[in-house]
Amino acid sequence: MFQYLAVTTPVGGINFNERKTVLLVGYGISGISVYKFLSSRGHKVLAIDDSDASCAPNTMSDIMWEDIDVVVKSPSVPIMPHNRHHSIAQATELQIPVVSTFDVFKLHYPDAKIVAVTGTNGKSTTTSLIFHILHEAGFSVKIGGNIGIPYFDMGYGEYYVLEMSSYELASSQMLDFQIACVLNIDPDHYEFHGTFENYISAKHEVLNHAVSKIISCEDRYTMSKFSAAQDVTVVSTLNNPDADVYLHENTLRDRKSQRLLLDFAGISNLLGKHNHQNIAMAYAACRKLGMSSQEIVKSIGSFKPLPHRINILKKVGDIIFVNDSKATNPSSAAKALATFVGYEIYWLVGGRSKSIDPFPYVNDYLAGVRKIYLFGESECEFAEMFNGRKPTVKCGTMDDALSLAYRDARREYGQVVVLLSPMCSSFDQFKNYEHRGDRFTEIVLALKECGGD
Ligand code: ADP
Repeated sequence: MFQYLAVTTPVGGINFNERKTVLLVGYGISGISVYKFLSSRGHKVLAIDDSDASCAPNTMSDIMWEDIDVVVKSPSVPIMPHNRHHSIAQATELQIPVVSTFDVFKLHYPDAKIVAVTGTNGKSTTTSLIFHILHEAGFSVKIGGNIGIPYFDMGYGEYYVLEMSSYELASSQMLDFQIACVLNIDPDHYEFHGTFENYISAKHEVLNHAVSKIISCEDRYTMSKFSAAQDVTVVSTLNNPDADVYLHENTLRDRKSQRLLLDFAGISNLLGKHNHQNIAMAYAACRKLGMSSQEIVKSIGSFKPLPHRINILKKVGDIIFVNDSKATNPSSAAKALATFVGYEIYWLVGGRSKSIDPFPYVNDYLAGVRKIYLFGESECEFAEMFNGRKPTVKCGTMDDALSLAYRDARREYGQVVVLLSPMCSSFDQFKNYEHRGDRFTEIVLALKECGGD
């Protein structure tokens, strides 16, 4: 149980049956969706947001605390003891219930059958893949959550495939899933959770509240706690035949039948070993919902990969340009480096640092890295870190990093990749990772075969 829950009034008994006065904290895409939904149901909703760019309709001075029945918090609003938002602290002190946007969804759709996907990396890909497979099979299914589609914008479905962030898992009191998948756990989001242990506990909440649990054999934090739990499917990305679903020589197999389920050689839309894990998890989730192996495998081939995740944009001469802007931590960037073993890698790194030591993740792949092009507010930090291990150059902006990397890469022979896999969040110089990836794509697509920078 989280410290936060222990000091926040439990939501037991709360409902939205009668007209309520609601304080919504956070007016981004999730907040706006909740605002519209609750307002349309006749509730009085006040909404605040600390961001200067926000168009929230209220400020703190509008809040008459004695009138507030319930506070709804947007996923990224901090709630832990070290960073609790002042409005959450105030509500807690006044014993006003604080609920998450997921709680509001669950209170209105108590019978929703939910497949929840979480993990440090691969959530969006796996969520979309499960949705795609179920949709192709004719399930009445919707997709949403942290993937960027708020709960109240999903529309009605019998099933919901939800990407669950650690923020939302740490903040919700009505978690209840038919199936939950935890892909992997690596350090991330210290700013919200305070410690790695809190982050792990948040991720594990998804399994504490799921009927069927799908976990990874290589995730020691989760295996040690859940491998002996009821209704667990263990997926291995290594050749571990004790797992229920495992990888063997570039194929997917299942322990019961030892049968070959899928040959990855035929899958060109999801590059890299990490995607084999996403595929294996999606496979296990869809099997749990009664689909046959053949039906699942057929749909995997028609899945369109999401943008900004190891997307090969263009080949100029021998150089390929890859947009992996979504790699916002070292473990995900390491997967991109692993995908290009055998290439000469010109690597663009930078943005807002997550203060995570990258070496445990990237060390094995550094041999292929020719030079690191640093940009954004973390450039000094990374220049110092890689000093003596790999040549780096401080470029200031991503545009200049790309231009310099291209200039150097053109002098190379053989298989060459200019890779944006920045290991950092984008908020120092961009609106978000999509904005960063779009800018990278725009410049790359404008490059001429033999032209200047
Ligand atoms: P998330 O939603 O968890 O951020 P995405 O599917 O959007 O995950 O992928 C984010 C980044 O992580 C991309 O750079 C991608 O290449 C990498 N990635 C995807 N799946 C995995 C995985 N299973 N393990 C490690 N890295 C992954």
